[in-house]
Amino acid sequence: MILDSNNSYKGVIDRYKQFLPVTGNTPRITLLEGNTPLIHSPVLSEKLGSRFDVYLKYEGLNPTGSFKDRGMTVAIAKAVEEKMKAVICASTGNTSASAAAYSARAGIKCVVVIPEGAIALGKLAQALIHNAKVIAIKGNFDCALDIVKEIAANYAVTLVNSINPYRIEGQKTASFEICDYLKFGPNFHLLPVGNAGNITAYWKGYKEYYSRGKISCLPQMLGFQAKGASPIVKGKPFKNPETLATAIRIGNPASWQKAIEAREESGGLIDSVTDKQIVSAYKMLAKGEGVFVEPASAASVAGLIKLERKGFFKKVKGKKVTIVCTLTGHGLKDPQIAIKNIKRPPVVKPKIKEVLKISGII
Ligand SMILES: *Cc1c(COP(=O)(O)O)cnc(C)c1O
Repeated sequence: MILDSNNSYKGVIDRYKQFLPVTGNTPRITLLEGNTPLIHSPVLSEKLGSRFDVYLKYEGLNPTGSFKDRGMTVAIAKAVEEKMKAVICASTGNTSASAAAYSARAGIKCVVVIPEGAIALGKLAQALIHNAKVIAIKGNFDCALDIVKEIAANYAVTLVNSINPYRIEGQKTASFEICDYLKFGPNFHLLPVGNAGNITAYWKGYKEYYSRGKISCLPQMLGFQAKGASPIVKGKPFKNPETLATAIRIGNPASWQKAIEAREESGGLIDSVTDKQIVSAYKMLAKGEGVFVEPASAASVAGLIKLERKGFFKKVKGKKVTIVCTLTGHGLKDPQIAIKNIKRPPVVKPKIKEVLKISGII
């Protein structure tokens, strides 16, 4: 926990105000987002070998359960500063949960357009309970984004999707936290790629810390799309993106070009992982590390495992190699996927003997 002289952490705007487009007049609309743990992963570090240290940036511990809160605190604060009374977004779920919560906090209206039937239950519940006006369309995320862009361009309402530059500004604070914690920049940074706002934001953050002399090396950015929704990997938009990782089910990423830049400038790559590989990493994180994430989040770790199998890391030079995987959202967002991937608990008579027999204790 980062504390100031009053012993209180005040959120990412306050902590990183020198790096953000805020002034004394920008209201601090915060739910104390950010300051998330960078958890060392013994299982993954061991898998790669003794030269490697793998860390998990667990963004599921943000106030609404995903990294979206880092960008939303800045986007909503700026909307309020600009006297806007309403915000709008398209969402695969987490953007709407975050926009709804921060709008509730700010006392402004929030309108959310979602693809019908394609968002996880926990996320829909969040947007609704925070009193957003939620509208489902018979179309996918990409259609929803086109609609809200058009509305924001013509009416007095601020778009808070990641094409809003303040979102990217807020989200880059995750890189700052990683470097501040490690006291250096990692060698590799792996993360899931959907609309590609986050890879854009992380890369911007690392570059800013580098140019201010806070770190002396920049990571290679390694982004992972789901195979059924991998437009950047294939070099063409997907009309009907399909993956169980709904947060990255995007066929035409808004920050496509920026993601390519992050890849090229950092000497990294953008690859895809199958749903099977995602689920396997998802289960491994829960069982092996005690970290419960939503499926999309596991794409970073699935990517790490895929690259390890291909011998990618064997070719990496250096005595000590530091790798960070972002885990973008909390597992409780999508309990239905968890339930689908485990055996239902057995039901027995209420007898000590019966429970013991199955428990594995004896
Ligand atoms: C939004 C989101 C992503 C994708 O991030 P982009 O910035 O759209 O690339 C991945 N995982 C989770 C949990 C998300 O909420």
